[in-house]
Amino acid sequence: MTQKEYIDKAESALLHTYNRYQVVFDHGDGVYLYDLDGKKYLDFVAGISVFAFGYNCKEYNDAVKAQVDKIIHTSNYYYNVPAVEAAVKLKEASGMDRVFFTNSGAEAIEGLIKTARKYAFLKDGSTDHEIIAMEHSFHGRTMGALSVTGNPHYREAFEPGIGNIKFAKMNDFESVKALVNEKTCAILFETVQGEGGIYPATKEFMEQVRALCDEKDILMMLDEVQCGMGRTGYMFAWQKYGIKPDCMAVAKALGCGVPIGAFLMTEKVGAHSLVAGDHGTTYGGNPLATAAASKVFDLFKEKDILKNVKETGDYLYEKLELLYNEKEDIVGHRGLGFLQGLEFDHPVSEIINKALEKGLVLINAGTNIIRFVPPLIVSKKNVDDMLDILKSCL
Ligand SMILES: *Cc1c(COP(=O)(O)O)cnc(C)c1O
Repeated sequence: MTQKEYIDKAESALLHTYNRYQVVFDHGDGVYLYDLDGKKYLDFVAGISVFAFGYNCKEYNDAVKAQVDKIIHTSNYYYNVPAVEAAVKLKEASGMDRVFFTNSGAEAIEGLIKTARKYAFLKDGSTDHEIIAMEHSFHGRTMGALSVTGNPHYREAFEPGIGNIKFAKMNDFESVKALVNEKTCAILFETVQGEGGIYPATKEFMEQVRALCDEKDILMMLDEVQCGMGRTGYMFAWQKYGIKPDCMAVAKALGCGVPIGAFLMTEKVGAHSLVAGDHGTTYGGNPLATAAASKVFDLFKEKDILKNVKETGDYLYEKLELLYNEKEDIVGHRGLGFLQGLEFDHPVSEIINKALEKGLVLINAGTNIIRFVPPLIVSKKNVDDMLDILKSCL
């Protein structure tokens, strides 16, 4: 079948929940993707912050294949070696104490919500606790994660949500403080807002929320699903600020393509929240997914990934800043490492479509922002190539 025929078949078989770009990607190699016709594309999306090491990374592929031949799935009623190894490495990388593996980012957020409610329930026995989340946040599509997602457009048709959620303004501590009362059990936000427009938390905001949470025994919960796993040049974005949360959610690049997420917490929270019977999952933490995650942590070290993100991320920042200063219709440039955004004063879909035609894969964040989330191995040369194509599309 031709590419067009596959697209037509997809449109007749799949539920239409995405407006897809008119391309069928067939395979990838390093920072390049190839479509069914063999056309080559430079990829600055990485499956949306997923493929940290690029495509067809041999060490990663070998680890996944070896696990396929050993055992793919058992059950959380038994122990398995890859899950133990991945949990230990995740603890070491994050400084957190307790790990629960999920299958996705949204499920990791669900876990955080349940943790917060249980923690508060054990303190006073009541069930009317509130969570403060942020406007413009994105936490996923399941009902709990949707309920803490700040963009009303995503929630509208699916109300009522889980309830007792309030929205403050990111980086506006007074707006958070104004919502806090004796029922508040958690403050949840992305350390760097992704879908909402690439807005990093300010250091001041992180410090103020931390102090408030300490004072009132409220859980500080960070969503690191998109900004975590090395994307900002730190294994987790909060490490840049030196502010440690009580709980956090991870996914996307945790498995580098194999579906896996996790929620983590400190010992204090772990000892006073979820217990046997409170939470579970069939697939979560299965040997295949955790073998992938375990290898991911090894490869971060072996390939010195954070060093490249810092250096080449700075380079990308300089170059995008130049472009921002040069072009009148570019009205903002934000971000850290390989999580950056250029905001235009008009929708960016036409630019993204043109780029795709010219062999460059880009993605938006909201209507007016191009988001740059390449594989973490991109070089300065890749950045230059990307910019050449991008400029020709402006
Ligand atoms: C992608 C994302 C999620 C949801 O993850 P899924 O794996 O798609 O469920 C949650 N939070 C943030 C910040 C994300 O970027």
